[in-house]
Amino acid sequence: MTFVPPDHPRFLSLMYRERLVEKVKEGVVVLQGLIAHGRGEAFDYILGEQSIPPALEAERVAAAELMLARRPVISVNGNTAALIPRELAELSKLTGAPLEVNLFYRSEERAARIASLLQMHGAEEVLWEPETEIEGLRSERRKVSSRGIAAADVVLVALEDGDRTEALKRLGKRVIAIDLNPFSRTSLTADVTIIDNVVRAVPNIIRFYKEMNEAEAREAVRRFSNEVNLKESIKWIKKWLDQKISELF
Ligand code: ATP
Ligand code: MG
Repeated sequence: MTFVPPDHPRFLSLMYRERLVEKVKEGVVVLQGLIAHGRGEAFDYILGEQSIPPALEAERVAAAELMLARRPVISVNGNTAALIPRELAELSKLTGAPLEVNLFYRSEERAARIASLLQMHGAEEVLWEPETEIEGLRSERRKVSSRGIAAADVVLVALEDGDRTEALKRLGKRVIAIDLNPFSRTSLTADVTIIDNVVRAVPNIIRFYKEMNEAEAREAVRRFSNEVNLKESIKWIKKWLDQKISELF
């Protein structure tokens, strides 16, 4: 692995890049995943690489949704497994939601690698051998487990493609999406959209879950409007851009 000086101003960002590159070599991340990450980084940059207040609110509501769900499931792809395997395992154990490996660029070998990576980091319930399909979806993401996504009432997704978010919604599921791009179809379609980096979002959801009881969870969900929250996130980006303009002169 390339040495990244710890005092480098973009240390964290560079570390995550290194980790993704390592995981490409191990067959966990596909090359297309690196491109997706780059798009995410660009949005993260104009958010100031921080969890903005509307993201924190959505993360709290995500914790609430997971708490109130009958059968929550956490959908995992190559990038998320590479970036935050330990945190995904912890969220899974905390909420009782299994981790389900769901891939756009699916091969059985890669799915198995991702599953063992998650297990190595403490995950107890990992579903990675789908035996049924989501209707109305043609990509490899249609392949799901009947004990997982197929039966779930609430699904947490990250770095998702809009097609599957729409398909899950058509099936009447509630979708929590973590996506740095507030303009993606996923962001516009989900019930709870978190405009934040997964590396910050998942630890935040864990923290909120631990702090919350069921009455507070119900109240958080009741008061939440995804439309308002999404608008607030975009306003933050606008504010950041305005500040950058004023710093120039
Ligand atoms: P859609 O199909 O929903 O319109 P898209 O085509 O923009 O979305 P994809 O390329 O299919 O999206 O998936 C990548 C998405 O994940 C991008 O929107 C990107 O901003 C986001 N993303 C990438 N890395 C991260 C990350 N670390 N945390 C959160 N989101 C990320
Ligand atoms: Mg897409």
